[in-house]
Amino acid sequence: MRATGPSVVIIGAGIIGASAAYALQKAGARVTIVDAGGETATASSFGWINASFHHDAAHFRLREEGLAAWKRLGSKLDLPVSWRGTLCWEETGEALTAQHDQLCALGYAVREIDQAEFTSLEPHIAEPPVRALHFAAEASVDSIVATNALLDAAASLGAQRLRGLKVEEIMETKGRFAGIRTQAGITLADHVLIAAGTGTAALMTQAGVPMSMLRRPALVLRTRPVPPVLRHVLVSQFGELRQLGDGTLLMPAAVDHQGDSSETVTDSLEDTADQVLIRLRSLLPHLTLDWQELTLAFRPVPQDELPVIGAVAKGLHVACMHSGITLGALAGELVAQEMLEGVTNQSGALLAAYRPSRFAK
Ligand SMILES: Cc1cc2nc3c(=O)[nH]c(=O)nc-3n(C[C@H](O)[C@H](O)[C@H](O)COP(=O)(O)OP(=O)(O)OC[C@H]3O[C@@H](n4cnc5c(N)ncnc54)[C@H](O)[C@@H]3O)c2cc1C
Repeated sequence: MRATGPSVVIIGAGIIGASAAYALQKAGARVTIVDAGGETATASSFGWINASFHHDAAHFRLREEGLAAWKRLGSKLDLPVSWRGTLCWEETGEALTAQHDQLCALGYAVREIDQAEFTSLEPHIAEPPVRALHFAAEASVDSIVATNALLDAAASLGAQRLRGLKVEEIMETKGRFAGIRTQAGITLADHVLIAAGTGTAALMTQAGVPMSMLRRPALVLRTRPVPPVLRHVLVSQFGELRQLGDGTLLMPAAVDHQGDSSETVTDSLEDTADQVLIRLRSLLPHLTLDWQELTLAFRPVPQDELPVIGAVAKGLHVACMHSGITLGALAGELVAQEMLEGVTNQSGALLAAYRPSRFAK
């Protein structure tokens, strides 16, 4: 049966737009997703779903709820999420103890493991750490497959897509945003959602609500496929690493990739690839490793590094964030709820620190 609810245009078909499209269409809205095409942050993401990395307690709670939202979504759709947890040993000594204690105090599922247990969990890692942390509740996801699954599920419920079209203007009439203009013309809607990743700032500015974002380029390396050797997401002093279903190993070039604040990529690509391979070989020396793909992507990071989710003006919402894989399922759920029903106690509490209005101050 065709949906009869309000019409919504979503700008952006990355994980955030796809998740919102599914939630909105499922709740009865009539969704149109418009996307310019080209490289997305989603397609190049490391795909780690976690709350162990966070800026403060509120951000931790949001990310923890993000994990729960992936579970809820996984009960409705067949999604490529692997709930095998993370092994983390980027810190040592007192710093590792402090990280453990801080996460325990927040009530997180964290457990210190010794070398013997580490080896039983990841037998192929050379020089296993004496101490490591096990985050049992964390996951990883093939972000491209998950995004396509969400877009397909939205389409099967009636959502429509406009592809290869860049939104040049968000249309305002009588004090309310009511559609978009692309090079192919105007599409009217009751609501517009900006979920445009790094394109968000330009659209917000065009809509009269300037929002600045950081420039955060990131390189990610994929090896040629190797036999199955890893089960968990690994976070070591050599960098973050996981193995994909096709056997390739995925490693961001920056060692502390979630905290990386470089504004430019300065090393030559060959040097970067060599450095990543050296770090990989120190973890997995018995494998013959070669790289297959090095991808440059830009992380969508608002100026204060925190998510931006909520109403911008009448008829206009925004959802833009780094850690959009961790938060993608939740962001879609909450934004759909707020667009169709308004702010609830739960969404109000979870999103209080992340409203776009903070940029107007
Ligand atoms: C290298 C790397 C590693 C990462 N690792 C992790 C991780 O391990 N865990 C995690 O949680 N997060 C991670 N992230 C962050 C995460 O990938 C992003 O936060 C998330 O993918 C953002 O999704 P999005 O839908 O907002 O944006 P995108 O995926 O970039 O999609 C935005 C879409 O909007 C479209 N668009 C933009 N402007 C317009 C316009 N004017 N008109 C029409 N369409 C437009 C674009 O074409 C694009 O298709 C990583 C990011 C990178 C780059």
